[in-house]
Amino acid sequence: MSVISADQAIAARIRDKTQQMLQRAAGLCAAHRVAVPDPVIRFDLRGQAAGQARWCSRERPTLRYNLDIARRHEFDFLERTVAHEVAHLITAACHGRTRPHGAEWRSVMAHFGIPDASRCHDYALEGIRVKRQRRWDYRCGCSTHELSTTRHKRMLAGTARYHCPRCRRALQPACSVAD
Ligand SMILES: [Zn+2]
Ligand SMILES: [Zn+2]
Repeated sequence: MSVISADQAIAARIRDKTQQMLQRAAGLCAAHRVAVPDPVIRFDLRGQAAGQARWCSRERPTLRYNLDIARRHEFDFLERTVAHEVAHLITAACHGRTRPHGAEWRSVMAHFGIPDASRCHDYALEGIRVKRQRRWDYRCGCSTHELSTTRHKRMLAGTARYHCPRCRRALQPACSVAD
């Protein structure tokens, strides 16, 4: 007989909900002639963000969830946070690069039945404030570096180049990350 901890039970419900939301987006993906994303799901997110979506051109996307927050706000987490993160992956699959919580993402949220999506992630209770900031993964020759949006924009505009302090190679864009 195996004992399932409370955390494992919550994680299982989050996984199920994630699969449900991905299936619910199947029609949207078909309309855009893209495959439904097949994310790796992890529960290793800590700190202030409830969830994080990460998508790359060549690897499987990843969804990371914060069990500390899920434990305290399970209902909202299942009803909103999962949809919020899945919507990032669907938006990326269907529309490519967009503003993280822009019109395309909000339309996916509306498709999920969540029209007031801006209130997502608002676990302002209990002193948890959730930042909505996007970061950008860049690669060098030896590892991955996270750049802020400011630096990312400088890279795009060509006004700055960043190099890895270890291998000295110029950083190249790799993955997008959104909370
Ligand atoms: Zn390097
Ligand atoms: Zn988000």
